[in-house]
Amino acid sequence: MIKVYSNSDRFMVWNVHAALEARGIECSVQNCFAAGGVGELSPFESWPEVWVHDNEDAAIAKRLISEWQEGFYKQEGKEWVCANCKEENHSSFDVCWKCGGEKPY
Ligand SMILES: [Zn+2]
Repeated sequence: MIKVYSNSDRFMVWNVHAALEARGIECSVQNCFAAGGVGELSPFESWPEVWVHDNEDAAIAKRLISEWQEGFYKQEGKEWVCANCKEENHSSFDVCWKCGGEKPY
């Protein structure tokens, strides 16, 4: 088992997990529910982590993750702001999560 990815954002961690599984790499998410341990753990240590089961997959997993992150930030771009309620939405949403307003452009 080798840790290949860690992020404070669980959404990103689960996305990495799904992306690796889609490539046939066995992996699991650790620390997902560790947020309650704040105080004893530093914030970094309580971040959720993706672990690859087979050590031989670690190098390819890390390469996939860096490629995926580049693509994610390039394609998905920035968050957008709802014209109706001014709520910030993740770029993957087509409508505002709060009021259902349409994404501009
Ligand atoms: Zn809205």
